[in-house]
Amino acid sequence: MTVFEMIIARKIPSHIVYEDDLIIAFLDISQATKGHTLVVPKKPYENIFDIPEDLLKHLIGVVKKLSPAIKNAFNATGINIVNNNGKDAGQTVFHYHFHIVPRYENDNFNIIFSNNANTLNEEEYKKRATLIKAALL
Ligand code: AMP
Repeated sequence: MTVFEMIIARKIPSHIVYEDDLIIAFLDISQATKGHTLVVPKKPYENIFDIPEDLLKHLIGVVKKLSPAIKNAFNATGINIVNNNGKDAGQTVFHYHFHIVPRYENDNFNIIFSNNANTLNEEEYKKRATLIKAALL
């Protein structure tokens, strides 16, 4: 049983900010920034590969509802929506979830992509795009 299942079952405490039949949202215990919130389906799907599309649509709808509320509650100047899938992607709780991370000027939260533009030749971009398109078939 993951820690999120224990939260959903009220076996351990949490600070719940939203709940419906399918979804629960609560404060991340490790507040990356003020108001950092997790949005979690109650059924314990592990990742993007497992979660059914209908449930994911509902989940993103809840993220859409919570994002402006969280932004306004703390006068944030931006929001990052983060979803880690797999250990190498930074996932530590293997129960699907979105992070809503409100952002502030100079908040020291680092989610910057390094700039790798101009490091590949045209041929390599084409090969990568072809591999993805082939995998979609
Ligand atoms: P991830 O690394 O994307 O799998 O995110 C898991 C998140 O769960 C981390 O940001 C943790 O701080 C958070 N977390 C772990 N245990 C708890 C807990 N008991 N209550 C709230 N958040 C938790």
